[in-house]
Amino acid sequence: MPTTEDPSDPRLTRGVDSMPTDQAAAYLVLSDEERAKGFVRPLRRSYVHTRGEQPCQSVTTMTQAIAETYATDPHFYGATYCVTCRMHLPVGEFVWDGTSEVVGS
Ligand SMILES: [Zn+2]
Repeated sequence: MPTTEDPSDPRLTRGVDSMPTDQAAAYLVLSDEERAKGFVRPLRRSYVHTRGEQPCQSVTTMTQAIAETYATDPHFYGATYCVTCRMHLPVGEFVWDGTSEVVGS
C-alpha cells in the first residue's frame, strides 16, 4: 500500500471506522531518516484482531515502511486496519502475531 511522509497528504485518513471501508489511499510513515535512528521494538509485520467488541481473529500484514514506523515509534498510530473487518480500529484491539503483546503498547 502507498505510504507518505507528508502529514498534510490529502490521501490520508484519520481515526477509526464504524462501517466497513477500503484501506486509505496512503498511510503516513516516519521518514527514512527517523526510521534509521533505530527501533525501540522488534520489527513485526503482522498483527491479529483479538480484542475489542467484535474480534475476528484475523491476521493483517503491513508493508515494510509501516512496520518500521511501528518499531521506531510504538505510539505513532492510534488506529490500524483489519483486512477482514475492513475497518480502521483502535490499535489496542490487536496483538502482534504470535505474541500476547498489544499493538501500540
Ligand atoms: Zn477484524
